[in-house]
Amino acid sequence: MDESNIKKMMMSAKCSGCGQRYEIEDIEVLGHHENMWFMSVFCVACRAQYLVTAVVDGEGAPETVTDLSAAEEEKFRDSEGLKVDEVLDMHSFLKKFNGDFSRLFSEEAA
Ligand SMILES: [Zn+2]
Repeated sequence: MDESNIKKMMMSAKCSGCGQRYEIEDIEVLGHHENMWFMSVFCVACRAQYLVTAVVDGEGAPETVTDLSAAEEEKFRDSEGLKVDEVLDMHSFLKKFNGDFSRLFSEEAA
C-alpha cells in the first residue's frame, strides 16, 4: 500500500458531514504508523477539514475510519468488516496524540 493507493481508496469515501465524495487533490497523506495511515481531507461542499485514518490489514480491502461520533460508531458497529476494536484504539490513540506527526514518524524511524 502506498500513498497513491491510499488516495485512490479515499476517493471512494464520502464526507461524514455531507456525503460529498473527496477529490484526489483534497486528500493529503500525513504519514503512516505500521498499517495505520493518517490523512487530512478537505470537503469542498461543507468546507470542513477531517482527520482520517485508514487501517490496512494487508489482506482484505482497507477499512477507513474517521473520528466518529458515538452515533456513527454504533452505525459502523453493525456494518460488515469494520474492526471496532481498531476504531476504539484509534480514539484513545488520537486522544493521547498531540498532533505532531513529524515527531511520531521520526521516532518510529529512529
Ligand atoms: Zn462535507
